[in-house]
Amino acid sequence: MTRIYNFSAGPSMLPEAVLRRAGEDILDWGGSGMSVMEMSHRGKHFGAIAERAEADLRELLAIPPEYKVLFLQGGATAQFAMVPMNLLRDRTAACYVDTGIWSGKAMEEASRYCQVGVAATAKAGGFTTVPPRSEWRIDSEAAYLHYTSNETINGVEFQDVPDSAGLPLVCDMSSNILSRPVDVSRFGLIYAGAQKNMGPAGITVVIVREDLIGKTIPGTPTVFDYKKHADNGSMLNTPPTYIWYLLGLVLDWLKQQGGVAGIEAQNIRKAQKLYAAIDASAFYSNPIDPAFRSRMNVPFRLADAGLEKIFAAEAAGHGLVALEGHRSVGGLRASIYNAMPEAGVDALIAFMADFERRYG
Ligand code: PMP
Repeated sequence: MTRIYNFSAGPSMLPEAVLRRAGEDILDWGGSGMSVMEMSHRGKHFGAIAERAEADLRELLAIPPEYKVLFLQGGATAQFAMVPMNLLRDRTAACYVDTGIWSGKAMEEASRYCQVGVAATAKAGGFTTVPPRSEWRIDSEAAYLHYTSNETINGVEFQDVPDSAGLPLVCDMSSNILSRPVDVSRFGLIYAGAQKNMGPAGITVVIVREDLIGKTIPGTPTVFDYKKHADNGSMLNTPPTYIWYLLGLVLDWLKQQGGVAGIEAQNIRKAQKLYAAIDASAFYSNPIDPAFRSRMNVPFRLADAGLEKIFAAEAAGHGLVALEGHRSVGGLRASIYNAMPEAGVDALIAFMADFERRYG
């Protein structure tokens, strides 16, 4: 068996220890005589798995007690609608910071439910930076301020939590949650799909301050109501039990890496190496403002764009897969989430140098 280095933006690599553990448990979880896949979500075994995952997430992110932690379905895409449905309350407008393709999608969906105010946009520069906070225009009548902490496609990452001028701050943290410490108390709501840093696809974590929920807009389906999920321990309906369990294994692994601070140190090292290799060469380039370069998703171009397809194909031949950029922007992109070993980044850098020698 040979494991490859998978640079996919998500679903992405999982820690090998997690996969091995899942393999060991596959027929009999903890002496229960059954696979987690076969358990009732309301039974005592799965109850213990679910509780442990929530407790570990609370510990890893130091989530204050006044926040609910929900495990939902529908991906981050469902959150693009659930956020306005639940957080608008009596207001008719929400404010969004537009830093790339994912914030754009969040805005487009929100515009079905409310007036979307653009606090700031990086569109004119091709989404290569975060507009300075001093230039944001925040509507004090808006229900909340939304931003995307890491633009997975563009490769732009906030390095700090922005000041929201008193509005509840909402963040799509899908592609950098658990990669660096954050002060959860600064947020009204955080949401993130699991398939980058938390597990396989199929579950979405929502962390929400409990005073913000309980009043949805008219017509909101029950399954889109945060309060209903909170009151039912995220078991309003059958949850994706096996994915929830795998997420728990990833959290357990993360604790063994020294938690979020421990993994952050590894993430900084991996990203610095890769950007340094790109910057040191005229053959490769990354267009992002160095102050906002993503530690998770590193887009890059070749000086001769005609070589990009060859690069991706040859890299795959060396066990370095899924380096093609998102279909909407082209180019190349290396996603180096928590579970990408440093050796994978080293292997990519070595391949890049070799490719440049041969084609440069
Ligand atoms: N937001 C961000 C930042 C993302 O990267 C993604 C997925 N790549 C999404 C939202 C959408 O997530 P999902 O496909 O789980 O709905």
